[in-house]
Amino acid sequence: DTAKEHFQIVFVGHVDHGKSTLLGRLYADTDSLPVGHLDKVRDICARQGKVFEYAFLFDAFLEEQEQGITIDTARTFFSWGDRQYIIIDAPGHKEFLKNMISGAARAEAAVLIIDAGEGIQEQSKRHGYLLSLLGIRQVVVVVNKMDLVGYSEEAFRAIEKEYRAFLSHLKLEPQYFIPASARNGDNVAARSGAMPWYGGLTLLESLANFVKLPARTDLPLRIPVQDIYKFDPRRIIAGRVEAGQFSVGDTLVFSPSNKTAVVKSIEAFNVPNVVHSVPAGRSAGFTLDEQIFVERGEVASHKDAAPEVSDRFKANIFWMGKNPVPVGGRYLLRIATAEVEMEVEAILGIIDASTLGRGESPERIEKNDVAEVIIRTRRPIALDRYADIDTTGRFVIIEGYDIQGGGIVMEVFKDEQEPF
Ligand code: GDP
Repeated sequence: DTAKEHFQIVFVGHVDHGKSTLLGRLYADTDSLPVGHLDKVRDICARQGKVFEYAFLFDAFLEEQEQGITIDTARTFFSWGDRQYIIIDAPGHKEFLKNMISGAARAEAAVLIIDAGEGIQEQSKRHGYLLSLLGIRQVVVVVNKMDLVGYSEEAFRAIEKEYRAFLSHLKLEPQYFIPASARNGDNVAARSGAMPWYGGLTLLESLANFVKLPARTDLPLRIPVQDIYKFDPRRIIAGRVEAGQFSVGDTLVFSPSNKTAVVKSIEAFNVPNVVHSVPAGRSAGFTLDEQIFVERGEVASHKDAAPEVSDRFKANIFWMGKNPVPVGGRYLLRIATAEVEMEVEAILGIIDASTLGRGESPERIEKNDVAEVIIRTRRPIALDRYADIDTTGRFVIIEGYDIQGGGIVMEVFKDEQEPF
């Protein structure tokens, strides 16, 4: 149903805590499986002498959807109410981060799953950290397998208390904590009869309460300039509209050069039709009323809502490179279509991926660390806070010829620096 609103959610949890089972339940209980799928999977289980599991539903469903394509992030959806929930299922936290930072995925909300019997694991903490790093603010924690702890309120409250305390250090406050049993369907789609002490929402109800992030077209205009084609005497500027929309007659400002001009025409290449306006998500070529000199890497916007221009900002980065990052380390930074030399001016804090401890006065960022840093660039660049506009607020870090890290812009400093 294409008329439904799309809503993207990421599901994360320690392996075996019940992610597939919970998803299988959601698909089955919202009637979102293809016709006959449930019976087919039951049949296969019977033939193979296996006990039916809801997890098989989701796994089999995924296999069908994925045939022939290889992707890090499997995407499927279930429908409920007037929404289609698109599931971003990342196999591990590295894939999840990579997908988020590269822009392959944009989660609007997250479901974090914890096994009531096993309690909070390191991975549960890491997932909480990643959500806070990525600025995901709509979070529901599902305490799953409540049937294994006799549906005990005490067991649930203990996990809730401990996890809330941990997340509050990350300034993350989940809106909902839900005691559930994915296997039995308690508090997933239907309210549980086994936990009369719980007066809160079901998982589905909590998801329906989350609000949709603004559509990209409603954000301020951002067109990172990709290329300039010179067909004398005309110059066509090409780029993808990453946010907002623009029309013929609009005054554009290019950052960081701060040059302005009016859009004279918009055209699609090799196609005779001329368009009047272009929304986010489309690429376009356009001409200006004046021959101003702009370069690849600049960002076109409307004058009253231009990006920040700065050579210093605070960021959260994820490092994947073998060589650790020292204070003062120099790399190439790529943000939208701009590339610029950068320096790690300061390392403010590190979450060590193995211990999850925050280094006291960290000197280096090791492989798989997530760190809060201050970055300086050799020249001012156009950028946004990730929380405001994601596509011009995230970047990758290149060492040699390879992407070795990625990050998101948390805060932009205005004061201009001495060039390094
Ligand atoms: P995943 O690795 O997080 O996707 O976990 P699965 O969904 O594959 O579940 C791991 C195991 O836990 C399977 O054997 C499930 O049957 C079991 N499981 C999942 N949810 C529940 C639950 O609510 N109660 C019980 N008792 N077992 C569950």
